[in-house]
Amino acid sequence: MNEKTINIEGMTCASCVARVEKALSSLEGMEAARVNLISENAKLIYDPSLVSDKKIKKVVESAGYKTSMEADNLAFMRNKRLIDMRKRFFWSLALSLPVFVFAMGHMLPFRNWFPGFANWQQTFYIFEGMKFSNFLQLILSTPVQFIISYPFYKAAWKSIRSKSASMDVLVVLGTTAAYTYSLFSLLYPYINPSYSGDVFFETSSILLTFIYLGKYLEEISKGKTSEAIKKLIQLRPKTAEVIRDGKEVIIPIDDVVENDICVIYPGQNIPVDGIVMEGESYVNESMITGESISVFKEKGSELIGGTINENGNIKMEAKRVGKNTTLNQIIKMVEDAQTSKIPIQKLADRISAYFVPAVVLLSLITFSVWFSLFKFGVISTILLPDGHTVFLFAFLTAITVLVISCPCALGLATPTAVMVGTGVGAENGILIRSGNALENTRKVDVVLFDKTGTITKGSPEVTDIVSIADDVSEKEILRLAASIEKSSEHSISKAIILKSEESDIKLKSVKNFQIFPGMGIEGDIDGDKIVVGNMKIVSKFGIKISENIKVQLTELEIKGLTVVFVIKEQDIVGLIALFDTVKPHAKETMALLKRQGIKSVMVSGDNKNAVKNVSNEVGIDQYYAEVLPEEKLDIVKEFQEKGLSVLFVGDGVNDAPALAQADVGIAIGTGTDVAIESGDIVLIKDDLRDVVTAIDLSKKTMRKVKTGLFWALIYNSLGIPIAAGILFLPFGFLLPAEIAGLAMALSSVSVITNALLLKRYKNPFK
Ligand code: ADP
Ligand code: MG
Repeated sequence: MNEKTINIEGMTCASCVARVEKALSSLEGMEAARVNLISENAKLIYDPSLVSDKKIKKVVESAGYKTSMEADNLAFMRNKRLIDMRKRFFWSLALSLPVFVFAMGHMLPFRNWFPGFANWQQTFYIFEGMKFSNFLQLILSTPVQFIISYPFYKAAWKSIRSKSASMDVLVVLGTTAAYTYSLFSLLYPYINPSYSGDVFFETSSILLTFIYLGKYLEEISKGKTSEAIKKLIQLRPKTAEVIRDGKEVIIPIDDVVENDICVIYPGQNIPVDGIVMEGESYVNESMITGESISVFKEKGSELIGGTINENGNIKMEAKRVGKNTTLNQIIKMVEDAQTSKIPIQKLADRISAYFVPAVVLLSLITFSVWFSLFKFGVISTILLPDGHTVFLFAFLTAITVLVISCPCALGLATPTAVMVGTGVGAENGILIRSGNALENTRKVDVVLFDKTGTITKGSPEVTDIVSIADDVSEKEILRLAASIEKSSEHSISKAIILKSEESDIKLKSVKNFQIFPGMGIEGDIDGDKIVVGNMKIVSKFGIKISENIKVQLTELEIKGLTVVFVIKEQDIVGLIALFDTVKPHAKETMALLKRQGIKSVMVSGDNKNAVKNVSNEVGIDQYYAEVLPEEKLDIVKEFQEKGLSVLFVGDGVNDAPALAQADVGIAIGTGTDVAIESGDIVLIKDDLRDVVTAIDLSKKTMRKVKTGLFWALIYNSLGIPIAAGILFLPFGFLLPAEIAGLAMALSSVSVITNALLLKRYKNPFK
């Protein structure tokens, strides 16, 4: 399977998205195609042996859109369109204003300043029935209608050809009808001088001007939705100083390869991820980890690309370069999240699909109803506004119905809120990776936490070493344990190895190393089989425990320590006890959850006493101890079977299955890659309160989605009847078509602005 993101040009509305998606999905071998309106791209997963670039390009084009098969730089494309819209707006404004003056000049307040003008405008005729000023209106409004607005015609044609209808169709129908009627009224007197019909070129051209104003504002606001990504991209260093052939050279960042030696001077950016080889310095990592205090780095410390070296000279060995750097991974996750679709959007898409045909139908009904009411004398024609014939009245209201309805507002509500919500999340160190997580995190009933590395720091320290056999010293116990732990990544391993290094112990080589997840490890040293692990591994190998050992074990466990056995050839030779401190905000997090009525549960592979101690310390509602990794998954399932929505927070490889099974999985970003891969949400900062923030952000984002959809629906369901003239009989109020156009344009803008308000989100828990 191949994964690729391509740009899609020319999409104007939610219905376009459906069309492109349908076209792409029709390709054989296309596994998934996800099109996004706001970021104007399509994310494809496909079988490269069946689907070629050429085929993809062809279906996109035959659906009526363009693609260069690249994922274009969104900011660049947006800017291009912003400039384009601004140009169209100002040109149509420049042409429409005189049209308006020629049409309305005799009614405007300043008419008395230029007495000659009103007179000229009213009395100067080219031929009988054709006022010169009306002719000028034709000359000015024609380019607005057909040249400046050519893209509308193109888009409308595309959408009709593929049997779906977009907002472009409504705009084209409405303005073309108004324009054509005016043209007819202007020219017909040439054949029949007794005909008297009005022209209203200003309606169509001013309406279009307003729509461009709306689109222009829309582009400005859309640009603001993706600022989070822009900020991250700006962190990306462009060059790196590396040592090649013994010389320091500056090379483009993309040319840095693994194991390159990079030289970083004070004030410079760390180019890629790597490990310090030489030198010491403080590094500001706040942009990635949110930790504002600079971190001290020395030989062996890890460095993250994009962070800033503050005071010392460092030589670093590059470890992760190109796409694989932490920063680029984060950017990719945020990009993915911003273009993901949340389940509720399906509803909006479905409404949008029927929207345009329904509006066209309503417009026809409006025309017929008014026309009949007047024609059959139900309403007296005396009520008609000045200069209106029955036909004109019915015709104008029908046009107003067409141009006031705004399917775009409906289409924009969800993707903009998702874009802003995920962006705000990223800025707060919360990477929401799926639309599903964004929508469902707010609904969780119970949060399950892993213990080690999630609630506790995950960097335990060895507190006690107990020698059991007389002939094996404490030093020897540490040597045996550390030697085999050398091959393991577990936090317990790191603690034991650190302890052995502090005691200057020489490690031995190990053969036949093996891991038993959730239990321990084994390996051969000097021909002896050594096992290090917990009670489970003791039972597994059928090793006997004397009463004396049991007493010593309980003594340590009661203190809340994690204890591992060191076993040599079926005999327990020693115990190693470790203590892991609880993370600073763990307790506060549990309290915050409780306040929201969410249950907290801890699930750990550690012994009962250690788990109970931590549980009491942080105030967890319920705990499970001595759980094997696969049992974590079963516990998640148990809660789900009770009908509860489960959120699992974990950091380790052993949490991956549970993270995937839970309704929402939150991975701690400092954890292992496997856990991060299986998390729906990744917390970049090592701060547990972000779990509560994620829930809160999901709530707030969904509220924005819903208010957006609500306003779009309310706008349309109030706007259409008013446009249809429902207020005419009781109040004599008729909405002018231009104003309807303005309202339509502003409704899209207001939906986006509503979503943008979410940008002011402040983390309420810090
Ligand atoms: P948790 O669920 O707390 O993150 P794990 O499932 O990784 O913990 O491990 C559970 C228990 O298994 C540990 O508390 C320890 O007793 C034992 N264990 C796992 N890996 C090792 C190892 N490498 N060395 C010693 N003991 C281990
Ligand atoms: Mg863990």
